[in-house]
Amino acid sequence: MVGWAVVWALGWMALGVPPVLHEGAQPLDPSKDAPFGLDAVPRWVPEAKGPLRCPKVELVSWHGRALKYGGSVRVYKGFAEQLALFEEVARDVAIEVYGRAPSRILHMGTLNCRRIRTWPHLLSEHGLGNGIDIAGFVLPPLKRGQEAPAALPAQLKKGFEVNVKQHWQAAQPPQGDARAQTHARFLRRLTQALVERPGIFRVLLGPAYPGHHDHFHFDCAPWRLVTL
Ligand SMILES: [Zn+2]
Repeated sequence: MVGWAVVWALGWMALGVPPVLHEGAQPLDPSKDAPFGLDAVPRWVPEAKGPLRCPKVELVSWHGRALKYGGSVRVYKGFAEQLALFEEVARDVAIEVYGRAPSRILHMGTLNCRRIRTWPHLLSEHGLGNGIDIAGFVLPPLKRGQEAPAALPAQLKKGFEVNVKQHWQAAQPPQGDARAQTHARFLRRLTQALVERPGIFRVLLGPAYPGHHDHFHFDCAPWRLVTL
């Protein structure tokens, strides 16, 4: 398996195309996919164990433009621009579903020099500051003058938190309540909107991917993979 992966990687590198090593991932299509600043950085980690040295990339402290993160996040400079686009999508979907923008993004980390747990021969995009784990969002109370969408349950005019762990899977009535279903609809519409904008993130992982029951992982690896 690993031997084949090496041949595969070297083959692509000889052609000047980033290697595709992650199971289920699709190669980029140079006719459609805009190049990204870290595409040429090797993701292959020769040793699956032991200390790891992550390539140096230009990092920035990103505070958020359309939405805030409750502090700054440390990311690759080019990834910050992708986050700015993500924030706009999250804001717009929140306004559509809840009638107002989130006051805060709840994240579980960005920069972290490590391997992909299930693929220890590959550097995690977190190692390059090129990925983010999103747990959910904080919504402020609906303000006077902000119009609530017709389908919004009255309780959701107050402030609340929507998160992947509790709300991705909403039980159907009669067990499930309208609030939980609204939250599930928001999370589904958000990921759907991001899939429809492939120029923002190339990898989108969620609860359907092992180890992601409580967060979305978004990154700009040199391949495409969507498992939500
Ligand atoms: Zn992650």
